[in-house]
Amino acid sequence: MRVAAPDGAVREVDGVTGRRYRSSDGVYDMHPTDAAALLKAGGFAPNLGGRSRGGYRCRSCGFAAFVKTCSRCGETCEKE
Ligand SMILES: [Zn+2]
Repeated sequence: MRVAAPDGAVREVDGVTGRRYRSSDGVYDMHPTDAAALLKAGGFAPNLGGRSRGGYRCRSCGFAAFVKTCSRCGETCEKE
């Protein structure tokens, strides 16, 4: 399942299963066990019904972010 790291700048995550994941945008396609662990650590599931609690959404590419500047394309995001 896909999980976004709490900090979009994270480029590498070690899963509890021993797998190592790399990402260019902070979103990881993980083994469910690793995904659950990352969610507990503050990660979130991206693009689930287009909702992200208290987050922002990029006006340019639609990326859901927790910060006002899109970590994918650098555009300004709007509060959801
Ligand atoms: Zn964007």
